[in-house]
Parts: sequence; C-alpha cells; structure tokens
Amino acid sequence: MCGACCRLDTLLVTVTGKDLNRISQALGLSAGELLRALDFYVLKEDEAVPMGLRDIPRVNTERGAAYVALRKTPNGDCVFLQDNLCLIHAARPSACRAFPFVFQEDKGGLAWGLSAVKEICPGLGRGPQVSASNLYETGNEVLEEISISKEFIDEWNRNAQTPSAISYVEAVLRDGRFSV
Ligand code: SF4
Repeated sequence: MCGACCRLDTLLVTVTGKDLNRISQALGLSAGELLRALDFYVLKEDEAVPMGLRDIPRVNTERGAAYVALRKTPNGDCVFLQDNLCLIHAARPSACRAFPFVFQEDKGGLAWGLSAVKEICPGLGRGPQVSASNLYETGNEVLEEISISKEFIDEWNRNAQTPSAISYVEAVLRDGRFSV
C-alpha cells in the first residue's frame, strides 16, 4: 500500500478489455464515464516502441494507433489513486495485480521476470514469499487476458470503419469475451 508504482508518471498502466469491464462494473460507469478515466497514447512518428509495451497491441482511434491506459493526473499519479490508496483495489487492472512481476509466453510456456522499474517497489524482498503456483496462476491469468484483448483488437483494427476511442470502449463493454 505504498503507492510507489501508482505515482510513477513514466509507468503506463495499460488495460485489457477485461480490465475495462471490471472497472466499469465495479464503479457502475458507462462507456462515456469510463473514457474519462482513460488515455489513448499515440507514439510520435519517430518514437520507438518502449520496451515494456512491445507485447501490448495498439488500438485504431481517430488520432491513430494508441495504447489504452489509465489516465494520469497532472502530477503523474494514477487517476484512481486517492490518499495513497487504490479506489478500485478489487477491480484493479491485471498489470497492477501482477506488479512488479511481468509475464510473457515462451515456447508455449510461461516466462516471468521483474518489471524494468522494479527498483521503485519497496515491497521487493519483504513479506511472505510468493509461491511458484501463485506466480504461475497470476501469470496465466494475465496472459489469457492479453491474448483475448489482442484477438479483439486485431478484429477491431481490421473492421472498424470510423474507429474512435469512445466506440472502442463501447464495443469492449458489449463484447461477451470480456464479461467478468
Ligand atoms: S489502478 Fe490502483 S493499483 Fe493500479 S496504478 Fe491505479 S491506483 Fe495503483
């Protein structure tokens, strides 16, 4: 509950379709209301894809292909951080549940590591040990959510005639693959 990762302005909290549905249901938000808690990050023309975002798909919008992430307040805090606590703790995105661990598929299996910004996490090396089974369970859930989102975003990028941020959020909230 230190809030260190939630206050890091360089750490983008990207969200899957399931994350969006979870937050919408937990707070009773419509697509338009949920949109106000999000940002759609478009890379500049000459900007390289940041290392931590290489496996994250971009969504076509009216402003171009964008990473969908939780909005930051002007001081860099996550929009859901209040008095150093997470307002949506039970429904927080999978990236937050997993931090400081990160996961990726490796030859059909699961590989895990620590986030590139692990040094900001004062919880590392403290408290009860994380069991291998817990780690694999979390990792498999995270990868499953990303995989469903990728499938959906591929379809979206292929088929949406006039893609926009709001129509993307509406489509996600309608899609049964993201029900929670
Ligand atoms: S959603 Fe909650 S846990 Fe995740 S960055 Fe925001 S305040 Fe922190």
